[in-house]
Amino acid sequence: MNSGMDTLPPTPPQDHIGPQSATLERWLTGPRFNRLPAPGAQDAAPALSFEFFPPRTEALETQLWTCVRRLEGLAPRFVSVTYGAGGSTQARTHATVERILRETSLVPAAHLTCVGAERGVIDDIARQYWDAGVRHIVALRGDVPGGGAYVPHPGGYAYAADLVAGLKKVADFEISVAAYPETHPAALSPQADMDSLKRKLDAGATRAITNYFFDADVFLRFLDRCLAAGITAPIVPGIMPVSNFAQAKKFSAGCGASVPYWMERLFEGTEDDPETRRIVAAVTAAEQVRVLQANGVDEFHFYTLNRPDLTYAIAHILGVREGLK
Ligand SMILES: Cc1cc2nc3c(=O)[nH]c(=O)nc-3n(C[C@H](O)[C@H](O)[C@H](O)COP(=O)(O)OP(=O)(O)OC[C@H]3O[C@@H](n4cnc5c(N)ncnc54)[C@H](O)[C@@H]3O)c2cc1C
Repeated sequence: MNSGMDTLPPTPPQDHIGPQSATLERWLTGPRFNRLPAPGAQDAAPALSFEFFPPRTEALETQLWTCVRRLEGLAPRFVSVTYGAGGSTQARTHATVERILRETSLVPAAHLTCVGAERGVIDDIARQYWDAGVRHIVALRGDVPGGGAYVPHPGGYAYAADLVAGLKKVADFEISVAAYPETHPAALSPQADMDSLKRKLDAGATRAITNYFFDADVFLRFLDRCLAAGITAPIVPGIMPVSNFAQAKKFSAGCGASVPYWMERLFEGTEDDPETRRIVAAVTAAEQVRVLQANGVDEFHFYTLNRPDLTYAIAHILGVREGLK
């Protein structure tokens, strides 16, 4: 795949450069990266979607709505609202999705999981969404609350592919599903996981949103594997702008996202320096999306964590402006 970078051939080593010039020699003999293409070089601004979580307290509710209002002007294709482990946020997810539908110009998508519920219960939740005017579901298996091995509910949907098929029987929802560039941690093998993704799309999902990742190359290689598996639906990269590195590292260990050493080095020494951390976070995520954009990727899903600033700035860098569709 095209790296998207303007590269110049490396300068060959020069015999006459002595040891005292070692630094200059090192600079002159490495690969040359001139620049990434300017964002304006792309034909159109990319299509974005933003993910929120349903708030637990009044303070978090205020934070969420500040975030929603700030990002609304960027006219995302849709915004999605997560569903707590084991359905623990069912009412709050529903209330948030309905309020977005009622009070904003945004198109909401409700996350829904299989864990711990009978099919009939899940179908009823989906029907309520449909009746309320919600047309987009992010269909997931979910995880066992508190961790532990997943065992399907005896009367429930076992895996996300079963849920997608069930939802399609309830109504003609638009359905997005999850994908894992570095393989889902519980998958039998990368190929088994790819087969599972294909089953979800064959069952009626029209898009996959990936787990977050930090090396653009990880995503680009995953796209190659999807294509080789006969998948043609959009695989939208999930972008997580990380400003709390320690927390992200802890979380990544459980969800199959590797944290590269270079990233650790970037955040090193910023533990007590939130301002520098935020700048590092913005640059890191901006670089990631710019490389993807340079490789032709023109759809992005942002895990906002209900904080608008980094997402807004990175969207701006991608060429997305208020008032532009
Ligand atoms: C974009 C995105 C949004 C998310 N939102 C939420 C959310 O709102 N709430 C939440 O609780 N979690 C959420 N998650 C996390 C998700 O629920 C977990 O990662 C979960 O462990 C897997 O869900 P899935 O839908 O990918 O499952 P599936 O696609 O069902 O796959 C789960 C595992 O089972 C394997 N598998 C699939 N089919 C079979 C089969 N027939 N037999 C044996 N093994 C099989 C797969 O290879 C994989 O290892 C989200 C993840 C992503 C990437």
